[in-house]
Amino acid sequence: MPSRHDAIADAVLAGTPATEQDALAVLQSDDDELLEVVAAAARLRRRHFGNAVKVNYLVNLKSGLCPEDCHYCSQRLGSQADILKYTWLRPDEAVEQAAAGLRGGATRICMVSSGRGPTDRDIDRVAGMVGALKQEHPEVEVCACLGLLKDGQAQRLREAGVDAYNHNLNTAQSHHDHIVTTHTYADRVDTVNRAKDAGLSPCSGLIAGLGESDEQLVEALFALRDLGSDSIPVNFLMPFDGTPLEGTWELTPGRCLRILAMARMVCPDREIRIAGGREMHLRSLQGLALQVANSIFLGDYLTSEGQAAEADLELIRDNGFVVLGADAVAAGARPSSQRPHDPAKRRRGAGTDVPANA
Ligand code: SF4
Repeated sequence: MPSRHDAIADAVLAGTPATEQDALAVLQSDDDELLEVVAAAARLRRRHFGNAVKVNYLVNLKSGLCPEDCHYCSQRLGSQADILKYTWLRPDEAVEQAAAGLRGGATRICMVSSGRGPTDRDIDRVAGMVGALKQEHPEVEVCACLGLLKDGQAQRLREAGVDAYNHNLNTAQSHHDHIVTTHTYADRVDTVNRAKDAGLSPCSGLIAGLGESDEQLVEALFALRDLGSDSIPVNFLMPFDGTPLEGTWELTPGRCLRILAMARMVCPDREIRIAGGREMHLRSLQGLALQVANSIFLGDYLTSEGQAAEADLELIRDNGFVVLGADAVAAGARPSSQRPHDPAKRRRGAGTDVPANA
């Protein structure tokens, strides 16, 4: 007899969308069901995305000093977090940073700036950067993430060659006003719709671990599905010291895995991207998470460092996946240039005066 999670996957594969009860069943599954949950969600992932992982790369064009008060954000108004703060990169600097990501294996560059939303001058500035980047790398996919959009700005970005626009709903409508007061949930929905209407691929996701309930996580996910988000970044809160959510640790690796599996069940054919907090919260379950999600960021995040980019690529290879758009390297095979060094010889613990590794 199939597990209840297999039964949900069977129904989804047969064309019946997951219900809110299905989503809650995945989210609230027991530890001894975890592999069943992953296996069921993995069937949907394989159906729609095979063994490919899309690799994205973030370029933070303008960091910190934001006038908005998003409680989770290290760049917010009044943040005491010790992060890099700088104004707009020059176009050549932006292109250089993006090129590093492309060399590392990314196929999509996410160009991000802090702030409530761009001025028309900012749009011109980003349009110039995108033009320069696409001239050197015509194959690159560009996603812009510049905040709330005003009339005509999405069209300008589209004309400049931007392919997608990211603006996360972040959380459920019923929880939104607990995490930000300087703009509304409706403002966020409006910007995603503006992007969509201009022909930009809508990218909108969430942040888990903001004090939301299980039902609110489900609510957020169904809102993203109904909004038509093509790609759904799933962030796990990194609670920076110096922000209102400092010290908020609600997530476990298993819960993060269930959240991703739930996203896959609810949105089987959308790009589910493991975003900020991957290393910190999934920890040793990152490989299992790739069985469910089909997209990651390479290297660093906006204001925090990720694991080494090479470790990201190794994660993909070791788990039998391939980087979307990259030359095929046999699953699990390691290019000769990336073979590990000899085993490290033990020089500590028994037989030495050096403290043991325990
Ligand atoms: S999430 Fe964006 S709008 Fe909110 S504080 Fe951070 S940079 Fe500003």
